[in-house]
Amino acid sequence: MATRVNPKLIDDLERYGAQDVSKCYHCGNCSAVCPFSQGTRIFPRRSMRHLQLGLEKRLEGDLEPWLCYYCGECSEDCPREAEPGETMMSLRRWLTSRYDFTGISRLFYLSWKAELGAILLVALLAAIGFLLLGFLHGNIGVYDGPGAFLPSHIVHWFDWSMAVVLVILLGINCARMWWFTLGREGRDAGFHVPLREYLTRAYLLPFHFATQARYARCERKRPWVVHLALMLSYVTMLVLIMFFLGFMQAGPGIDWRVHAFGYAAALGLVVTTAYAMWGRAKRTEMRYKHSHESDWIFLILLFVVAGTGVLQHILHRADLDVAANVVYVMHLMGVVPMLVLEVPFGKWAHMAYRPLAMYFADLQPRAVPSRSRAETARRAAAS
Ligand code: SF4
Ligand code: SF4
Repeated sequence: MATRVNPKLIDDLERYGAQDVSKCYHCGNCSAVCPFSQGTRIFPRRSMRHLQLGLEKRLEGDLEPWLCYYCGECSEDCPREAEPGETMMSLRRWLTSRYDFTGISRLFYLSWKAELGAILLVALLAAIGFLLLGFLHGNIGVYDGPGAFLPSHIVHWFDWSMAVVLVILLGINCARMWWFTLGREGRDAGFHVPLREYLTRAYLLPFHFATQARYARCERKRPWVVHLALMLSYVTMLVLIMFFLGFMQAGPGIDWRVHAFGYAAALGLVVTTAYAMWGRAKRTEMRYKHSHESDWIFLILLFVVAGTGVLQHILHRADLDVAANVVYVMHLMGVVPMLVLEVPFGKWAHMAYRPLAMYFADLQPRAVPSRSRAETARRAAAS
């Protein structure tokens, strides 16, 4: 099959945040220092090369950008200041928009105004919906129980509806990721991964999701600890909201069986997002040297959601139910766009793509010749 090149690929990547790809002269320093570059996976130099050659399809089926954790070591050691670490980050944004069948990811990554506008619009619609619900069916002076302004069973139902939409959208995009990396690539090369390999290696998905064990191989451990704390805090809060919302919302007494987890998760979210925002503002580390607008939107939205969640909880415990309900509506104005826009189309999507990439990268060498290809070869040999 002929290889098509896109001479404007670097220009396109620069719109996703890549800096100086053209400066690279392929010395290989970056791949030598990268803690994850080994065996047949030589990056980021190879990605720089493919970009310079405009090999769009090749990059589309590439898993290597997802194997990079942006420790920044390659950028620090690049003699040409070609910023290979930032290039890998930009490739992850670019790949996210390629996997997304709706085109929304691309729109958001290329226009922060569109992303912000969509978030504000969805937040406004959420506010109108929840205020209507509250004023039609409840009392703003009641936070919990009969007559509550926002009854937990209705909010719970709404959460699950959003979760279903999210899983469908993200599921389709994950299927496209598989098609680009294992499906189409494998078919074109005449290989496929047997089903038993998918099944026997499936444990890698939850393993990489929960531990981010590869990240721990970076020389500096703090970024791994912060990233892991952020992810575990987020997942803990998600589990509490999806399965224990009634307990979380009940009060004003504290139910330590669930609230202890809630406090730990809230603390983790507030501290880690504040730390990341501080680092980006001060540009203290190489990985924070360049911030794409989507990085800021992601962090600010998460900080607002975590902060309003904590505040409404405190107000309810202080018996200030009117204020607690007002802050609760503000909290939901952040939660809804985060779940229906940011998780499937924005930076959050990497929570699904990265562990999938680890899993697929492990499966790729286990591919075997497709039956049709093997049969053709056997017949050709016999004739
Ligand atoms: S990105 Fe820099 S370190 Fe890596 S191959 Fe190119 S010039 Fe060398
Ligand atoms: S940023 Fe770190 S993990 Fe990513 S390619 Fe560079 S050295 Fe490797």
